[in-house]
Amino acid sequence: MMLTYFILLFLTYSILSSLQMPCLRCGCAWWLGEDWNARCARCGWDCEADGYDDDCQPLPKFRAKYDAFCAHIKAGRAPRWSK
Ligand SMILES: [Zn+2]
Repeated sequence: MMLTYFILLFLTYSILSSLQMPCLRCGCAWWLGEDWNARCARCGWDCEADGYDDDCQPLPKFRAKYDAFCAHIKAGRAPRWSK
């Protein structure tokens, strides 16, 4: 019973933290790792180089993209992206 609770808690936490930081190149919500220099699971973008500031907020030039991606993800859809 406790284990189920912890798994749910972990899943909720993962989903919430991905919602806060979608990839700013393709909008993917998943990262290959938990570290600051983890890469986007879909396009390989590295958010350490550009995109987010030290408080995990999108830089001004990425703000519009960030809002659009978050709206998609909250609606349960992965934003479209092609190479
Ligand atoms: Zn990406």
